[in-house]
Amino acid sequence: MRALVLRAPKSPLVLEDRPAPRPGPGEVLLRVRACAVCRTDLHVVDGELPDPRLPLVPGHQIVGEVLEEVPPPGDGPRFARGARVGVPWLGWTCGVCAYCRAGRENLCDRARFTGYQIDGGYAELAVADARFCFPIPDGFPDLSAAPLLCAGLIGYRTLRLAGDAERIGIYGFGAAAHLVAQVARFEGRRVFGFVRPGDDAARAFALSMGAEWAGASFEAPPEELDAALIFAPAGELVPAALRAVRKGGAVVCGGIHMSDIPSFPYSILWGERVLRSVANLTRRDGEEFLALAPRVPVRTEVNVYPLAAANEALDDLRNGRMSGAAVLVPP
Ligand SMILES: [Zn+2]
Ligand SMILES: [Zn+2]
Repeated sequence: MRALVLRAPKSPLVLEDRPAPRPGPGEVLLRVRACAVCRTDLHVVDGELPDPRLPLVPGHQIVGEVLEEVPPPGDGPRFARGARVGVPWLGWTCGVCAYCRAGRENLCDRARFTGYQIDGGYAELAVADARFCFPIPDGFPDLSAAPLLCAGLIGYRTLRLAGDAERIGIYGFGAAAHLVAQVARFEGRRVFGFVRPGDDAARAFALSMGAEWAGASFEAPPEELDAALIFAPAGELVPAALRAVRKGGAVVCGGIHMSDIPSFPYSILWGERVLRSVANLTRRDGEEFLALAPRVPVRTEVNVYPLAAANEALDDLRNGRMSGAAVLVPP
């Protein structure tokens, strides 16, 4: 099979011919139909996350077709042959640590992640643990479904951690934001978009996705916010968002990596404001979000790249040259 491979961080991916992977007990072999590109892929390729498996096939928003499943001994298959399934970032958890037992498998001490410790979907074929794959809802074409698997899921978890806030500020209007804004509007919330100063295209994009107001990151919104969600990896947005939320409001950071947060006066946190992060996802988040998405219905804005153009897709994301989500499609 053909695959895009990271041989060393901070170097471009290399297109390689590799032997087809073989599923072990409990695993499925998938023909990759689409794999969306996540900012986390960029952090892995750019060497901003420690100790990736090397060489590595990145990609953790895979829509695949089941070619073969090897059930664990004494068990039946989870999926029919030919079924469309999604493979997310959470690839394996231990099931026995304190976090797993408490329903917080996203924090599992031994968790392994797709496209990081496990080969991912920048390839023609992929293997995944069947217990961590989701059925893709009917009516969602492959290209529209792929970005739901991380941008959608993590965005959904970020919104959930903001509680029942009505006025939601969203910082960084990329793949996650454009999906979560639609869910927030569906739930009757009000959305305020924050984009890079001078980025008129992003501003228009935020408005088209249901934001009632969109402005520059450091601008004050027209009224106080009940919560802010930060999807851009820029630490200086944290004090800006704290200044925009009301007493008792929450600022939730949805990314896996962020530049350092500059120091800020205690007065902008005081008033029982809450600052927290989101880490990974649980399978429950995935089931809830994929049940909700067709009801909204969530519309995905997609930029399609052939698999062999993965480096270009990453570069366009790195340089903010796209709105919505990039999706790789094998030949
Ligand atoms: Zn665990
Ligand atoms: Zn991701």
